[in-house]
Amino acid sequence: MTEKFTHPVLVVLDQIPQPDGSFLLTDASVHLLGVARRLTSAEIWAVSLNPSPNMSRLGEAGVSKVLIPNLAGRSPRVSAVVADAVVACANSLTQLSAILCISNFRGREIASMVGAKFRSGAAVEVTEVDVVDGVLTASKSVLGGEWSSSFNIPSGLPIVALRPGAGTAVPVTAVETPGVIPVEVSFSAAADDVRVLSSEVIAESGPSLAEASTVVCAGYGTDGDLDEVKELAELLNGAVGATRPVCDEGWMDRSAQVGQTGLTISPDFYLGVGVSGAIHHTCGMQSSKNIAVVVDDPDVPMVEMADFAVIGDFREILPQAIEALKANPDFQRE
Ligand SMILES: Cc1cc2nc3c(=O)[nH]c(=O)nc-3n(C[C@H](O)[C@H](O)[C@H](O)COP(=O)(O)OP(=O)(O)OC[C@H]3O[C@@H](n4cnc5c(N)ncnc54)[C@H](O)[C@@H]3O)c2cc1C
Repeated sequence: MTEKFTHPVLVVLDQIPQPDGSFLLTDASVHLLGVARRLTSAEIWAVSLNPSPNMSRLGEAGVSKVLIPNLAGRSPRVSAVVADAVVACANSLTQLSAILCISNFRGREIASMVGAKFRSGAAVEVTEVDVVDGVLTASKSVLGGEWSSSFNIPSGLPIVALRPGAGTAVPVTAVETPGVIPVEVSFSAAADDVRVLSSEVIAESGPSLAEASTVVCAGYGTDGDLDEVKELAELLNGAVGATRPVCDEGWMDRSAQVGQTGLTISPDFYLGVGVSGAIHHTCGMQSSKNIAVVVDDPDVPMVEMADFAVIGDFREILPQAIEALKANPDFQRE
């Protein structure tokens, strides 16, 4: 893509609270800033819902200005609160080309609410964005993943929620000292309709499934025998996902389900183990950059979709993969 916007792009950041009280910019947000870099020749600005972001990290990620909305004690976990904050941030700027956020549960709601407030177009679950004839053009898969669809947002301020890790990013130029802009927010009644009573971290080792760059996904063919699936994921510094029958059986928690009625993921590397590739599953992982599968049936759709398929019993294949990884530390991802 050569065409770019000439005004800044505003990115809504996702940051994860750390045990020491600091906030970690997610990999998906870093990637999104690289996508924003590709979309505009102007500066990249960011909304931080956390009042004390790691400014040097944001500078490294190419952010020139950080807008910090005053949530007045409200929770950034409430989408209506965040939507009001993003609208206030956008209104405080004179010229803006687009707003980008991550297409997770909150991001999808924010995009819809902000789009409605600006009476402009919002797109969610987007897998690629471009600028064509001065207009934002987006792509996504639709109808359970059977079709891919491209569309544009011809008027108003476009708001786009991209799947975590999706979209082509380009290298950013680090900004030595990003500016900080505090923003006062006028909250709508909807912002107070939901209150967060409590929240706690669900114990999870390794990267989160939605944002992991490697996902090893357990299918029904594992018959609930998940030790090697988990060990392989750990060796690859990846997360473990599952198909619906695996969750139905209670072999994995429902939060691990990938697909139409579960999470949508776009890792750099997806490995299915005992997964047949039903459309309800593949619509949630088909934008993975590299797809491999270990399955005993060469005729299943996942073999057709995969870049690399190993046909055989996973009980024979996974131990060999694990042994090879352990014997070759260079293969292990940092
Ligand atoms: C409305 C609706 C929504 C749905 N939403 C989702 C969703 O969000 N996510 C989802 O995943 N599914 C969803 N489903 C279910 C979906 O249609 C499929 O049934 C499901 O994805 C199949 O999961 P699977 O590939 O693990 O199992 P299977 O289709 O049973 O495939 C298991 C595969 O493992 C192979 N196998 C068996 N033993 C071994 C072995 N020892 N070694 C290697 N391979 C082996 C088998 O040959 C087979 O190919 C939905 C269905 C409906 C109707």
